[in-house]
Amino acid sequence: MTTSSTAPSVSSVAAYAAPAANAPLEKISVPRRPVGEHDVLIEIKYAGICHSDIHQVRDGWGEGIYPMVPGHEIAGVVTETGPGVSKYAVGDRVGVGCFVDSCRECEACLAGQEQHCAKGMTGTYNALDKNGEPTYGGYSTHLVVDENYAVRIPDGLSLDVAAPLLCAGITLYSPLNHWKAGPGKKVAILGLGGLGHMGVKIAHALGAEVTVLSQTLSKKEDGLKLGADHFYATSDPKTFEELAGSFDLIVSTVSAPLDMDAYLALLKVGGAFVNVGAPEEPNSLNMFSLIGGNKTLAGSMIGGIAETQEMLDFCARHGLGAEIELIAADRINEAYERVLASDVRYRFVIDAATI
Ligand SMILES: [Zn+2]
Ligand SMILES: [Zn+2]
Repeated sequence: MTTSSTAPSVSSVAAYAAPAANAPLEKISVPRRPVGEHDVLIEIKYAGICHSDIHQVRDGWGEGIYPMVPGHEIAGVVTETGPGVSKYAVGDRVGVGCFVDSCRECEACLAGQEQHCAKGMTGTYNALDKNGEPTYGGYSTHLVVDENYAVRIPDGLSLDVAAPLLCAGITLYSPLNHWKAGPGKKVAILGLGGLGHMGVKIAHALGAEVTVLSQTLSKKEDGLKLGADHFYATSDPKTFEELAGSFDLIVSTVSAPLDMDAYLALLKVGGAFVNVGAPEEPNSLNMFSLIGGNKTLAGSMIGGIAETQEMLDFCARHGLGAEIELIAADRINEAYERVLASDVRYRFVIDAATI
């Protein structure tokens, strides 16, 4: 059927959910709203497993809404459109990332930074929508979303390797883009996991000279294959001597506390250290580490819709997808344990046909 409709074609869908904080995920049914005027119904094909899914399922951020269907790295195909939809048609390949709505009128929204909406973006899951209904994420067979909060997945990208781009890809693309990683720039990616491996690929494709800073050299071969020019172990104190004053930009994907003064010393004059990983504990630093050398300490959180589209188009042009391990839905709990043990290269992706 290619005609549009406002009738609810899917009202209840299969999903994997945590019934309560810390409980293992299990198969349940969740409601999906009727396809509204500006909505598209997406048949989900793949959903990535992001580290923050595990945090939220285990109520690491508090006030979790249960049952919780995680998943904000979603790739699928449009199967129905509301009558007012103009961006997408049935059969289009689309993605949904970390949020599904925002106020659309604040300064951030108008600037295409919906993730920083003054009224708070509506998370793809573990949030309440405008009607006060809980949102359920991508570990599911279908999703209804406003067309303005979906992005197009270009034909050159397979949907399975595209799914993780919706969080991991944009999380790294946005700071690399903002801080102008490119030819002549020396960029370090700190941590080579789900986020970091996309950082290496994207920074390399942007034309920067890329260094991986990893705890050990165990992933060196991978790092070089992904596009890094250099690879150093941060457990080796000589790394900090050798690389002092080297980088224009360091993007940290690490969520453990860091010796900030030691890392800031690796920046050139005018260099920037950008956090996309979020340590749970506050971090301290000596302000002289920033003052000497006019350095910048910054943060970055995912990206807006327009920049997410730009990232997908960039990745398609450069043939970049995530390195994935495809799993059936009944292996989600096992995959979570492996993510926590850093035993994945580099992203688990759920085949939604198995849900
Ligand atoms: Zn994520
Ligand atoms: Zn807003």
